[in-house]
Order: sequence, then C-alpha cells, then structure tokens
Amino acid sequence: MLRAEDATAPQLVAHLSGGRGVAVLPVGALEQHGPHLPLATDTLTAQAVADRVADALDAALLPAVGYGATWNMSGYPGTVTLRPETVEALAVDIGRGAAAAGARLLVVVNGDWGNRAPLARAAAALQADGVRAVVLDHPGLDEAAERLRESRPAAPGLMHAEEIETSLVLAIAPRLVQGGAAAVYPDFPPGFGSVPMRMHPFSESGVFGDPGPATAAKGAALLDAVVTESLRLIEGLLASL
Ligand SMILES: [Zn+2]
Repeated sequence: MLRAEDATAPQLVAHLSGGRGVAVLPVGALEQHGPHLPLATDTLTAQAVADRVADALDAALLPAVGYGATWNMSGYPGTVTLRPETVEALAVDIGRGAAAAGARLLVVVNGDWGNRAPLARAAAALQADGVRAVVLDHPGLDEAAERLRESRPAAPGLMHAEEIETSLVLAIAPRLVQGGAAAVYPDFPPGFGSVPMRMHPFSESGVFGDPGPATAAKGAALLDAVVTESLRLIEGLLASL
C-alpha cells in the first residue's frame, strides 16, 4: 500500500502504473454523534475500512475527505454539512486527479449516509469521462449488524451513535469514546426514512438507539465483515476490467 500524502508524485505514478492501478478514497463527515462519539466517527470508519482494503490490494490510499453531506444532522450545532453538489464535485475532481496519475479504478469508501446520492452521481460523471469509479457504502454492514446486535435499531436500518457505531469506534479509536450515553427511541412520524427530515427534533442527545451493549469485539467483527465484502466486490470488478 502507498499512502499518497506521504509519497512523492513520481512514487504515486510509479505505484499506480506498476501495480493494479487502484486508488482508494475514504469519504466521511464532520457530524454530531451524540455526547460520547467524535464528530469524525464516519470518517474514522471509512478510513479504517479504506486502510485495510488498500493494504490488501496494495493500492494507493488517498487522504480522507473529512466532511460530507449531512443535512439531516445540521440542526445539531457542531455538525458541518457540505452541499450535495460540493461532495459530488469533490469526488469528480479527486477521481480525475487519480486517473491522471494512472489509476484504473477509483474505490470510494463512503462512511456517511448523506454522501450516497452525490457520490453515486460523481461515479456516473467519472464514468462518462472514461474514469472507472465504484462507491462502497460499507457493504456487508447491515447483515453483520443484524447478526451481532443485541439492541433493536431506532428505525429500520438506522445506525447513529448507537450500538453499532459505538462498537465501530471502540474498535478503531477507543480513546475517542467518551463514556456512555443513554438509549433514545424516538417516536418517528409517518414517512420517516422516505421523506427528507432533519433529525434534531427527535433526539436531544443525538443518539438514535442504544449504545449500551457496544463492545470493541463487535466493532472488530463488523469491520471484518465490511472489509471482506468490499474486497469481494472490488476483486470482481477488477477481474472484469
Ligand atoms: Zn455515523
């Protein structure tokens, strides 16, 4: 693996052209994650997955984007949200730069739900430019979470500052987990999950679900599952290039 930020330009070009030509870009967010998890939770998770994926593929690891489109959490002070078009433009520009350095495939490891749509649009725009990009939204996480979780989610598929995310940070950066936080199970209105809604009216602390049963061991197992599934997808794609 080559860390692009530590390499010289000639080293990056040589690594991409001499190897499999994969560049990995983690994209996260600066977003409230309750009273106990850091603002960079989604960035840390994306970085942890990207790091292991890049290592397994001997890829070039690009510096993480530490901001994302987190409009739904923007009612909580401390969250910094980018406009979706900013996320899309960032990913397109970074993809073009990576391709110019010799990347055959840009793997975007996305850690934030709000980035999904703009990153998918960026991948389509890059494809139209002849640059191949794939966006991975933590594949395998839902299934692993279903298997490992002891608490019920606050809403189907919702993971925010609860058991799953707290387990992930306990596995990745335990010193950044500041104590525990109380469970919050809001009464969501009809249409939640399909209609765009900001989250702050539903949980004062910013927790959605129960962080109580979180453990580092669960976080490690969740990461393993996401890395395994990510690599399976990328290997399949590389075989078809
Ligand atoms: Zn998160």
